[in-house]
Formats: sequence, C-alpha cells, structure tokens
Amino acid sequence: MRQFSPQYCVDLSRERKASYAWKEKLEKYLVPAPDCDEPSLQTANKLLKLSEKLQLHPIEVGDLHERVERAEEWIEKLKKIFIKKGCAWSLKEVLLPRTPENASLTVKDIKERKKRNKSTDDDIDADDITDDMLIDRTARKGPCKLQTMEKQELEAIKNIRADNKKKLECENSTYCSCQRVAKSTMFPCDLCGEWYHTLCHRRSLQKVELCIRCVRSRRPNLNQVYPLLTELASIGLHFEESEYLQSLIERVISWQTNYKCLISNLSRNSERNLARATNLYLEGLLLEVSCDDQTFLYEAIKEKWPDIFMHEPPEGAFICDETKTPNRKRRDKDADLPRRLQNPRKKNKGTRAQIEPESDNEDDDEDVEDDGPCAAGQCKRPDGNKVEWVYCERCAKWYHMFCLNVNPKDVRDDPDFVCSNCQIIHAAS
Ligand SMILES: [Zn+2]
Ligand SMILES: [Zn+2]
Ligand SMILES: [Zn+2]
Ligand SMILES: [Zn+2]
Repeated sequence: MRQFSPQYCVDLSRERKASYAWKEKLEKYLVPAPDCDEPSLQTANKLLKLSEKLQLHPIEVGDLHERVERAEEWIEKLKKIFIKKGCAWSLKEVLLPRTPENASLTVKDIKERKKRNKSTDDDIDADDITDDMLIDRTARKGPCKLQTMEKQELEAIKNIRADNKKKLECENSTYCSCQRVAKSTMFPCDLCGEWYHTLCHRRSLQKVELCIRCVRSRRPNLNQVYPLLTELASIGLHFEESEYLQSLIERVISWQTNYKCLISNLSRNSERNLARATNLYLEGLLLEVSCDDQTFLYEAIKEKWPDIFMHEPPEGAFICDETKTPNRKRRDKDADLPRRLQNPRKKNKGTRAQIEPESDNEDDDEDVEDDGPCAAGQCKRPDGNKVEWVYCERCAKWYHMFCLNVNPKDVRDDPDFVCSNCQIIHAAS
C-alpha cells in the first residue's frame, strides 16, 4: 500500500499541473490562432518528447504520435525519390533553388560535403525543451523569398556558363575536375557548360548530361512526385519539406506554362524567342523535377537553336558523342563499368584510365580499351587488371604503369608524377 505522504501529494499536484500545462499547449498547438501557421512537425516532435518526459497517458497524447509518424514516413519517401546514395545535398537543399554559393562549389568542395553529410541530423533532447521552444519558429520562406532565390539561381548559372564559354577562347585554359588542358575525348555539361575528360568522368548517358557540380538529385519525373502531394493533405502537419516540395512543383508548373507559350510562338525566330528558349532550357535543367515537356524543349532547341547546346569541344580535344553509339554497345559499356571506373575514380590527379582515341569503328571498343597510345618506348600491351594509366606532368604523355614498371600504389599518391625518361633527362641537366 502506498503511503500518502505530504511529499507525495505535492509531487502529485505538481505532475498534474505539468500535465494540464502540456494539454493546454497541445490544444493551442492543434488549433493555432488564425494568423499562425498550421501545426508544424517540429513543434509536434517537441510536444511528444515533453509528453514522454511527463509520462503522460497515451489518451492525452491523442493522435499526435500517428501524425508525426506519417509525416516522417512521408519525408523518407520523398528522400528515396530525390536523393542519390552518397549525395552531397540534403533533401531541403535539393528542394530549394541553389544558392549562388552552392552553385559555384568546386568538385573538391562537393566531395568534402559528401563526407560531412553523413552525420547532420540534430536530435532534440527532451531536457532541452523550454516553453519558449514550443512557439512555432519555423522560418517559412514566403513566395517572394523563393522567387528571389529562383532568380538568383538562374543568374548564378548563367554567369558560370559565360565563364566556361570564355575559357574556350583562351589557349591554355584548364578544364574538368582535374584542372588540366583539353585532351583526348571530352564531353560538356549541358547546364554549366564545363568540359570534362572522359578519362576523369563517365558520361551519365541520360537525356541531359549534368556534371558532378550541377547534379543534385535523381530528378524524378513529375508523375512520380504527384502522389506524394496528394498524400500530404491527409497528414495535417506543416513542415519545411512539404512546403518546399509544393513550391518546387509550382515552379515546374509555371515552367510548363512558359514552355507552352514559347512553343506556340516558335514560328517567329526572333532574338526574344532565343533568349526565352535559353532561359527555359537552363531553368528546366535547374529544376530537380523533370517532366516530358523538358525533353520536347531540348528536341526543339536542338533543331532551332543548336548553339544553346555546347557542341564545339575545346581545342585539342574531341567531343565524346555517345549518341552515335548504338544501344547494344551502351549496355556493354555499363557492364564494363566496374573495371573502367575503378581506375579513374580511385586515382588522384596524377593518374588516369586509358585514353580512347577517336575511333570510327565503335565496335572495336574492347580493343581500344587495352590498346591505347601508350608513350612507352616499348609498350608491352598489358591487358586486364594490368591496364592502369599514368600521366607524366613533364612530357605530357600517357603511359601504362605496367610499361614504366611502376607500382600503382606509389603513383596514386604522387600528384606530380614524372616518368622515368623525364627523370633521366632532369638528372642529366
Ligand atoms: Zn580531367
Ligand atoms: Zn555542370
Ligand atoms: Zn604500354
Ligand atoms: Zn615524362
């Protein structure tokens, strides 16, 4: 039998008070004042934590638990649709337009972010909850703010594109994530217009080619995203992800409207139409949701304003035009991927996979793989795992590591690799 000590009664009344206070907060929260936001997920989470701390009866908590669970499941679904494995961007970032800072991150920055991104979830501790925190502070980004962000994003990418275009006119410009001169086969990013060595990066072979700096998400189709929008209505909570998704979809729809407007005026090949087409083209690529109209626009542009696409490679390089490759071959290339990828990805900037000279005979792909122009005096024509390439900084030539008789491990850690020939010349002078 429990003794009803005075202390127990004090505790009991204190507990009661706390639970009443909590209930009051819950009510206030579920029926927000007219000028307030709808209930937010963040606050719901705080209330739940607090209810656990107060050991409240499940009846008192009501369906709050369920709502939070449904919202969190929804966010997970959204993540699955949008976010690639090992992505450098958070879901919120992907749903919002790029900030100019994010748009101009270097490949190195992005790789750093990928590493960092693994542990960013901040957990709220129930003890940290103060009454003050229950006030909904979700900073809503109003439509005005978002429109400004969208404009800034478009401006930022236009500037980057202009800079990349300018580089093509200078003789010793460097390109790609490796920051080397134009060489061998290269391909452009459809969005930023930077050129990449096929030795350093593999083409995605998607309808549009977005480089490592420009790609942020899986770019799901609008049809994939719509069901999630409908589901949102039944959750009855407000949270940033839902708000950002809605504004992203609004942006896609307004893009579609502008696209239809352009297409209906297409017969007039005016300067104004070109500017509009360029803007639509770029904004279509910036959007993290794709739609069929985007594909139609690219087709129309290819026909009418081919110059919008980058198709003149920098001097000294060939364009890597995978569109010429028949489908069968593409699949072969994908099957071939692990081995091809191993080399360039693992190596640092001193080393590359093989050079693929432009070949008229695409069917010779396998042979080309093992038969590149190795600069070694007596190329031993290695094959299989032995095909690893290294670039000599001094004579600017590519060698099989096997032919130079160097250990791949040593070479990988040496960004300024110099071949044995150059070492001899250097030692003699
Ligand atoms: Zn490169
Ligand atoms: Zn790019
Ligand atoms: Zn060789
Ligand atoms: Zn050399």
